[in-house]
Amino acid sequence: MSLLFTVQVPNRPVEHLETVVGGPRYARLRATAAEFRRRLGGRRIWNVNSTAVGGGVAEMLQALVGYVRDLDIPIEWTVIGGDAEFFAITKRLHNRIHGSTGDAGPLGAAEAGHYTEVLAANAVELLRQVSSGDLVLLHDPQTAGLAAPLAAAGATVVWRCHIGVDWDDEITHGAWQFLRPYLAAARGYVFSRSRYVPSWVPERSTSIIPPSIDPFSPKNQELDRQTVRGILTTIGVLDGHAPDRANRFVRGDGTVGEVVRGASVVAESLPGPADPVVVQVSRWDRLKDMSGVLRGFADHVAPAGDGYLMLVGPAVADVSDDPEGAAVYAECVAQWRELPPGVRARTLLVNLPLNDIDENAAMVNAVQRNAAVIAQKSMAEGFGLTVAEGMWKGRPVVASAVGGIQDQIVDGTGILLHDSRDLGGFGAAVRRLLDDPDAANRMGRAAHEHVRQSFVGDLHLLRYAELFGDLLAER
Ligand code: UDP
Repeated sequence: MSLLFTVQVPNRPVEHLETVVGGPRYARLRATAAEFRRRLGGRRIWNVNSTAVGGGVAEMLQALVGYVRDLDIPIEWTVIGGDAEFFAITKRLHNRIHGSTGDAGPLGAAEAGHYTEVLAANAVELLRQVSSGDLVLLHDPQTAGLAAPLAAAGATVVWRCHIGVDWDDEITHGAWQFLRPYLAAARGYVFSRSRYVPSWVPERSTSIIPPSIDPFSPKNQELDRQTVRGILTTIGVLDGHAPDRANRFVRGDGTVGEVVRGASVVAESLPGPADPVVVQVSRWDRLKDMSGVLRGFADHVAPAGDGYLMLVGPAVADVSDDPEGAAVYAECVAQWRELPPGVRARTLLVNLPLNDIDENAAMVNAVQRNAAVIAQKSMAEGFGLTVAEGMWKGRPVVASAVGGIQDQIVDGTGILLHDSRDLGGFGAAVRRLLDDPDAANRMGRAAHEHVRQSFVGDLHLLRYAELFGDLLAER
């Protein structure tokens, strides 16, 4: 059985971007792509990561790979495989790079041996497809061990780290010590923020490239109010009947999709269309602090006024590289059961099915568009795409001042929480927005414009073109 899996990404019409980013930015993208294609001279670009669905990396690759294809640049996306032990090790690395001990397990010689072995097996398969001279973009710690075998076969390898924290300590150091030998073979390193770059990474080979959103993806495309209602009643998180045919959206490949599946919902009652809803959409990862949002809402938002809370994540069994999801979700359910009845009736725990990734994205889109306030109360966050997604939809966002969230929420475009553990402060910020819809709308409009200026995919592609163009020139 093959370890590798190729993700089939349909072309995304790049000309659509012009309507969002304007003529000059669009023209720059076209011109850069033409020049880059010339430099590439028949070589291919490979993206390698560890999951096709769920999480920010998969989300971005769906869009960016589609646009690059449409720009006539040969690009592939391959997902590596591994066993449970491999993913337990890589989750440990992920947690520690975020400054958290995670399962507190070891990262010693035995773990390095297993990590190397699994990636060596993946490399054998990958090297049947990758040619000498190709450009390979490896994503995150799960793939770092591919750098050496790919580089030895003549590929130009860049490692892109989507995670990090603004400090370093014993915990982060342990993870980086584990990864460092594997990364020596990379020619370039990409981080989302300069604060995330470990001191031993050579500065001249490092690029800072923030992530981006795609305005036309099923996750972010415009949905009218009827459709938002239709999708939310279909999945079972909003009271009432789905208006006829109001469950449609445009898929990534341009065809019309319909939301037909239900979500798995833990709730005693559902909000109606007029009820303000506070939403956090995240993987069931401890660092996203769904549990803290639940407590903050119960103790500081619900007692002081109206509103519901929805905690929304992917169906826990479906995210292959995240072994902790089920446990974190179970803890939230236990906590929900203990809530006072009046508050419990105003909180929903929602698992969205991942069987159809576009349908899942349309569900998230409707959930975010229906939100009166979007929360992202993470303890650590590489970037926090959910923040940009909420801002793009003109929603006011209340989020922890951690990691890349600090680059997104600036000058009145949302509310930053300087102490992510301060539940009273979180509750007060949410309450303020719920109680002043005009101010919330103003904030939402400023948020949308800021994302348009700084975090739409064309900028992301231009930065990659610059990096890869330089590496090709060096060869
Ligand atoms: N997401 C999703 N379906 C879900 C839950 C989350 O598509 O059921 C998406 C979410 O909309 C966002 C991504 O997963 O695009 C999470 O990215 P983020 O950078 O916020 O966090 P990460 O998961 O990468 O730590």
